[in-house]
Parts: sequence; structure tokens; C-alpha cells
Amino acid sequence: MSGGDKLDFEIRPNPRPVAAAEREALLANPGFGRIFTDHLVAIRWAEGKGWYDARVEPYGPIQLDPATAVLHYAQEIFEGLKAYAADDGGVVLFRPEANAARFAASARRMAMAPLPESTFLDSLHKLIEVDRGWVPTADEGSLYLRPFMYASEVFLGVKPASEYLYMLIASPVGPYFTGGVKPVTVWVSDDYTRAAPGGTGEAKCGGNYAASLVAQAEAISHGCDQVVFLDAVHRRYVDELGGMNVFFVYDDGTLVTPELSGSILPGITRDSVITLARHQGRTVVERQVSFDEWRADAASGRLREVFACGTAAVLTPIGQARWSGGELTVADGGPGEVTMGLRQQLVDIQRGRAADPFGWVHRVL
Ligand SMILES: *Cc1c(COP(=O)(O)O)cnc(C)c1O
Repeated sequence: MSGGDKLDFEIRPNPRPVAAAEREALLANPGFGRIFTDHLVAIRWAEGKGWYDARVEPYGPIQLDPATAVLHYAQEIFEGLKAYAADDGGVVLFRPEANAARFAASARRMAMAPLPESTFLDSLHKLIEVDRGWVPTADEGSLYLRPFMYASEVFLGVKPASEYLYMLIASPVGPYFTGGVKPVTVWVSDDYTRAAPGGTGEAKCGGNYAASLVAQAEAISHGCDQVVFLDAVHRRYVDELGGMNVFFVYDDGTLVTPELSGSILPGITRDSVITLARHQGRTVVERQVSFDEWRADAASGRLREVFACGTAAVLTPIGQARWSGGELTVADGGPGEVTMGLRQQLVDIQRGRAADPFGWVHRVL
């Protein structure tokens, strides 16, 4: 692609798509991230050539040379967003331009070729058009979209690759919480950190997740659902969970969330919550929050609610926190009113059931 020309997508329809009856059966109980649609998008980049060979093609395995750079040095980034069936039969996305911008920012941090934001958005449209029959229409269902990109050059040298492959796959998903929203218990890790200043915490790269898995396993071994990471320098301030940002709600209705320090992933749900809460007239403060403060304010009762947020679960109440020295319960440990109210408002906007004063909903079909 040169001079800002629009990339044309070649469409290669899947000769053996999943039969409609089987697809309906799969959509009735999709789970999360286990079933995939009939097609994917692939676009290649090479040094001196730019982006080329954009395709919608049958979903299937990728063949990789054992010396492909990503397998050795983990130059890989991804995104996650959802397409929703609108009540009028159309399909909508929530703030996809924000995912496009973050994907480009992640690419720059990982010394990869940034995909033009318009091409990222086009890829979402193309895949949803061919696989529209896979967008769940059941309440709370959605089509989870997973754009990703990796160093596809075959070379063992340590340097930014000269070839990349961008792909987009899609997975129909059911409700994150089956049987209603339940508060989670978090483990505050003092053995591990997620991201240090100057590191890759701001980028959505697979490596951050690889590094967090041992801490997540530790959380599970302590009977917790998720891990909370403290900052890598002082080991005092709350950063975020393994894949979700965190908010604190005080008795005066104020919301506090850790400021984006460079080691926190700038969540689009986080940004949407800040905007929505301010729109309701609430005070939202972005600042450092120490774990000592969390404990003291939970004990005094000033802290009324804590929640985590991200695309997959939207807003999740945090009822309890455990650490090596003890545990705390936030208020009565149940889902809070502010958390559940913001959650409902966000879900209603995402599904086109409420007014969209911020222009967040992007029509695809
Ligand atoms: C993706 C992600 C989030 C949430 O981002 P959303 O845009 O709200 O989905 C938070 N933390 C980490 C580490 C993430 O990778």
C-alpha cells in the first residue's frame, strides 16, 4: 500500500462453512474463546513493501517455520473487542477506533510496523460481513474479535523483524457470568510484578500475559479468582489485575482509579467508566492508590465498593482481597450499587438500548 491508498481485500469464501444447524447449536452455548467462525483476515507487511495481500479466507491453522522470529523473541501484540447484535438485526461495535489506536501504539512500543487505523477498522467490517451469521443474538452474547500481529520473518537474529503478519479471528461468546454477576476475590501479589517503568506494561503484548501466569496461578492456589499487581518500584501502589483495570468507590460517591503511569494498560472500559461517571456528576480521580490505603479505607468503612473492568467481563465487583498477611472484605462483600449501575449503563449503550451521548457505538451492518 502506498500513498495512503486503501487496501483491497480479496475474499476467499470458505468452501466448507459450518452448517447452519450446527452453528445454531454451537451458538446456544458458546462458552468463551473455544469456537471460531468460518473465516479470518490476514494482511502481510514487509520492509520496503508496506502492507499487502489483504485477505478474508477460511479459518484454519497457520504453518510456521521453526525459526519464525515470534517463536523465539515474542514480538507479538493483540487486541480484544466485541461485536453486538442490535435489536433491529444490525451489528454494532463499541469504540473500535480506540482499539485501532491502541493497536498502533502497541506496535510502536514493540518496534513493529503499525497497521493503519483505517485498515484495522476495515478488517473488522470485512470479517463481520462474511461471518455475520456467527454474531450471537441471545441476551448477553457477543462476537469477540481478536486482532493480533506477530513477527513472521524467518530469522534468529535479535532485531525488529522485517516481516509481520496481521490476523483477525472471531469467537462467539456467551455471558461472562453465568447465573448473574458475582463478586470476585483477588490475591495481592508480593512475589511478582506485572510491569516496570520503561517496560511494556502499556502495550497489549502477549509477553505481559506470559509473565503474569505464575502470579495468577498463585492467586488460584490461595483460593482467589484473580491477581492484583502492585507497582514494581515501591511495591506499594495498586497497578491493575492481570487483564483488567481497577476502581475504588468511596462513601461520598467519588471514584478513584490508579493513574496511567506507563506500567498500566490504558483500558477502553476504564476510559468509558471515567467518562460515564463524570457525566453522572461524580468526581473521578486518577491518582496512585496504595494497598495500605485500600486496607485502611476498607477497615474504616469509607471504601464502599471496588471493581475491575475490561472488555470481557465489563465491570466485575471485587468483594474480598487476600495477601500474605491477611484478608479484607469491601463493605458487605456483595456487588455494590455504583458498580452495578455503571455496568448496566455501559452494557445498555454497547447494545444500542440506551442513548449514546459520546458517539461510542459504531454501526457495522
Ligand atoms: C486489555 C487489558 C485491559 C482492559 O482493556 P479494555 O480495553 O477495557 O478491554 C486491562 N488490563 C490489561 C493488562 C489488558 O491487557
